[in-house]
Amino acid sequence: MRIVELEQRSGEERFERTLRPTSLEEYIGQEHIKNNLHIFIQAAKKRGEPLEHLLFFGPPGLGKTTLATIIANEMESNIRTISSPMLEKSGDLAAILTNLEPGDILFIDEIHRLKPAIEEVLYSAMEDFRLDIVVGSGPAAQTIKIDLPPFTLIGATTRAGMLSNPLRDRFGITFRLQFYTIGELEKILFRAGKKLGVELTPEGAQEIARRSRGTPRIALRLLRRVRDFAQVEGDGKIDLQIAKRALEALGIDRHGFDTQDIRLLQLLVEAKKPIGLSTLSALLNEDEGTIEEVIEPFLIANGYVEKTPRGRVATAKAHQLFGSTLSPTLF
Ligand code: ADP
Repeated sequence: MRIVELEQRSGEERFERTLRPTSLEEYIGQEHIKNNLHIFIQAAKKRGEPLEHLLFFGPPGLGKTTLATIIANEMESNIRTISSPMLEKSGDLAAILTNLEPGDILFIDEIHRLKPAIEEVLYSAMEDFRLDIVVGSGPAAQTIKIDLPPFTLIGATTRAGMLSNPLRDRFGITFRLQFYTIGELEKILFRAGKKLGVELTPEGAQEIARRSRGTPRIALRLLRRVRDFAQVEGDGKIDLQIAKRALEALGIDRHGFDTQDIRLLQLLVEAKKPIGLSTLSALLNEDEGTIEEVIEPFLIANGYVEKTPRGRVATAKAHQLFGSTLSPTLF
């Protein structure tokens, strides 16, 4: 990765972190999850026990990591965050587990990417708070059992379908995150604007929210870019005019589609018949997993694409949008 990209990414990560809500009350949307979590947290606290292991799944940027940090705050616990690709061998995970304090939360992002040998270490750790470590090999092999403090594992995944059954079964609670409504994204933007000292008009916020693909991370990223335009080309305030101008300059279409969304929709509209996942993957030069877990969910949730046994099809809404010329009405 180039240095500029790295700097850009770390800037964005810092930006996101400062805007991350810290309590369930501040967390906007996902009402079903919030209501349930509130009860589970209160009950666990009353019993003086850690929360059951939890699994969050849904496309990137919808707030899984944020929820994990909020749970830790509400439980007044420490949180240890790791991403599966960081773990190379089972000993890496064993070292983390044996260093946990009672009641700690271990957050594993991209949990579907755990290597099988590492995943196996988790089974007894999750079920019995115990580590079974095999020392030696062949007939001389011995299993050493190490007790672990009671802890809560929070797993996050964009690909629930890729989790093995034994792992999935060990989560007491599973939540699927939904895309956000425009109204919810507006609230997130106003809250962020307040924190950053950026003034947003309701129309300006709505314009950004509409183009955010139902995703807080995208809404905040766009806010950051639009703020630059507002500061350089206007008086710093984000109103409808400056939001429109900035988003058009950035090439963000008015439905929030990105280039891969548009290419996928164009292919399906043009084909006029179902296209299978592997063909789509080849035509778009995009990994099947990314199509299934990142691109498609938003298009399906908004009624542009349907999954049929014979493949993906464009709905009437998509045909209408792209018209007979097959060129998207971008802005
Ligand atoms: P994920 O882990 O699902 O990829 P994150 O939890 O990292 O997503 O969320 C991305 C950013 O979006 C966070 O830094 C946070 O600032 C913001 N965010 C996500 N969900 C919400 C929400 N419900 N309310 C307010 N801000 C949110």
